[in-house]
Amino acid sequence: MTKLFTIGPSQMYDEVIESRNSMVPYFRTQEFSEMMFFISDMLLNTLNADHESKVIPLTASGTGAMEATVTNCFTNKDKLLIINGGTFGKRFCQLCEKHYIPYDSVDLAFGEVLSTEHLIRYATNTYTALLVNLHETSTGQLYNIDLLSEFCKTNNMFLVVDAISTYLCDDYNVSKYNIDATIVSSQKGLCCSPGISFVVLSPRLDEYRKKQNKAIYQYFDFSDCLMDMQRGQTPYTPAVGVLLEINTMFRKIKNDGKASLLNRVKCNAEFFRNSITRLNVSIPDYPKSYALTPILFSKPIAKNCFSYLYKEKGLYVNPCGGDFGDRMLRIAHIGNLSIADHDELICGITEFLQGDIV
Ligand SMILES: *Cc1c(COP(=O)(O)O)cnc(C)c1O
Repeated sequence: MTKLFTIGPSQMYDEVIESRNSMVPYFRTQEFSEMMFFISDMLLNTLNADHESKVIPLTASGTGAMEATVTNCFTNKDKLLIINGGTFGKRFCQLCEKHYIPYDSVDLAFGEVLSTEHLIRYATNTYTALLVNLHETSTGQLYNIDLLSEFCKTNNMFLVVDAISTYLCDDYNVSKYNIDATIVSSQKGLCCSPGISFVVLSPRLDEYRKKQNKAIYQYFDFSDCLMDMQRGQTPYTPAVGVLLEINTMFRKIKNDGKASLLNRVKCNAEFFRNSITRLNVSIPDYPKSYALTPILFSKPIAKNCFSYLYKEKGLYVNPCGGDFGDRMLRIAHIGNLSIADHDELICGITEFLQGDIV
């Protein structure tokens, strides 16, 4: 049977798969609006966000929500600071370039741990906001939120967090860390189909955004979205089916508790990290999200291992791009995966290494 050890789409829960299996309903109804209010409430609860926060549902993958956030909140009169430690950090830089928003980036080499020293020279009180992909999914590094939150407070900056691959994988707390924008997507920690993303804004950033008064997009205009969300609706047809899945997932989380979901991810990650030490692979030692584990082979066999696992065993893991593509794979621990499933994966990797199919 096929299993996804991938960060998104990920191995879905049975309840969610069942909820996909019915006709997509019409959505300009009271019932749909109520569902949207429930989703919005659960989103704020699971983010530990204040209920004054603004929830913007978008029918887009995560990158769409990143672009919408950057373009709705900032202009060429702002200056942003971006933590650029991989593919997703770079994407924030590219977005700012495309939209002519000035920025500086803190560029990290592979394996370099973000620390206070990296930030000191930017403590100049000249930046509007700091943009960070808290879990840089391309490497697995989880940045220190205490450090970033303190830095933003001291330097009077908004804190904008792409939490796409840390939300519902690690602890995440909007109120505690004064996070002004959080971006999440349906297909990562929520383990639903791709297609829906949410942006959650603090009242403070929402006020700032309104003063900018410059919607450059029709589709992504936050003012329109927020006006419609007052009655549980969206300006344009949303991915209704994905919202139904999210509704199911949030009902599950309401029943089981967020702690139990987080604990499951953590146990899977710890089991995998302990067990894989038996093999001739290494795990980078920077701070990591529980969402996934990067593994490095001593030889350029990662692509072969990736193919072997899914073709021979039906086990899908994440390959990597860039300089480490030949040596690195990423194993996700989210979704409906057990310790036994992880054991099966380790057996698969062991078999591959024994055959050493280079
Ligand atoms: C997955 C992901 C995204 C969004 O990627 P899409 O392909 O647009 O869904 C953005 N940021 C991070 C950190 C991610 O892990």
